Amino acid sequence: MNYKSFQDKLTFIIIPEANGSVVRVKLSRGALWGAIFALLLLVGTSGAIYLQHMHSAASVYLRTTELSGKKSQLEQDLKHKNATIEQLKNEIHTLSKQAAEVGTKVEEMKRLEQDLQKLAPEAKKSGNPVSAAPPNEAADLAAGGVGGPAIAVTAEQVRELASVTGQKYASLQTEMHALESRFRESKKQLLEKQERVHQIPSLWPTLSRIVTSPYGYRKDPFTSKLSFHKGIDIAGKLNDPVYAAANGVVHSVGYDKLHGHNIVIEHVSGLRTWYMHLNRTDVHKGDRVAKGQPIGKLGTTGRSTGPHLHYEVLHNGKSTDPGPYLPAHTRKE
Ligand SMILES: [Zn+2]
Repeated sequence: MNYKSFQDKLTFIIIPEANGSVVRVKLSRGALWGAIFALLLLVGTSGAIYLQHMHSAASVYLRTTELSGKKSQLEQDLKHKNATIEQLKNEIHTLSKQAAEVGTKVEEMKRLEQDLQKLAPEAKKSGNPVSAAPPNEAADLAAGGVGGPAIAVTAEQVRELASVTGQKYASLQTEMHALESRFRESKKQLLEKQERVHQIPSLWPTLSRIVTSPYGYRKDPFTSKLSFHKGIDIAGKLNDPVYAAANGVVHSVGYDKLHGHNIVIEHVSGLRTWYMHLNRTDVHKGDRVAKGQPIGKLGTTGRSTGPHLHYEVLHNGKSTDPGPYLPAHTRKE
């Protein structure tokens, strides 16, 4: 197409339906193509702008939805974390109260330890000195009412409570370990003391505590001559039980015309006890016997005027007065 063809005129006739006049529009080919191009350009640009707008709108919508979801998630997380923080605060508070209660118990245990030490005064005082605790007034007042305004605690206060509670627990743990160690030592000493007590012939070997003939010089019941009585005679009924006066080992069981059926028990520290005139013996040489264990029956065998127990305590083979070993007794005059 050359320039001339662009110059060619085209006539457009617009015929209205009614009696209106006909409109003739003359356009050159170039103008027509220019108009068509302009129109296409306008349509293309508008379409592109529209598409761009639609894309942006869709992006904004998606972004908004996404942000809204994230916000909701964050709100939920925050709510959950707030609930957790509240729960932790309450737990710290509970722990601090428990620490105070444990502290009170530790003080009670210390007082108990003091009481125990009074019972065993010779027990060696070991470990930390026992501090006398003031009476726990808080516990006495705890039964009262509660109230007052609710003041929110700050994070700093919660941290301080947690820190103080942690220190209190650490200190309590140390004190309890020390207490446990001292209690173990006290128990050991009390057991040793108990063992020593069990080794000493401090138990009445009979049900009766009536001494009919004491240790020492007396008129012999058979000859009426002055003689030395190396034990005590305790009244009793035939076949009353006779008990070991202390822990020990049976040294001998025998019979002879003088002592009748008789038992000798060996104890610690060179001590022996001797039980005579028994009606029956129930232990054998070498038997280990416990304090209070029945070893035979009261009788009147051997050189005896009637049922009684002749009881002797020997120290390194020498007779000694059993009286001081025995708790208070009555004596038949
Ligand atoms: Zn006697």
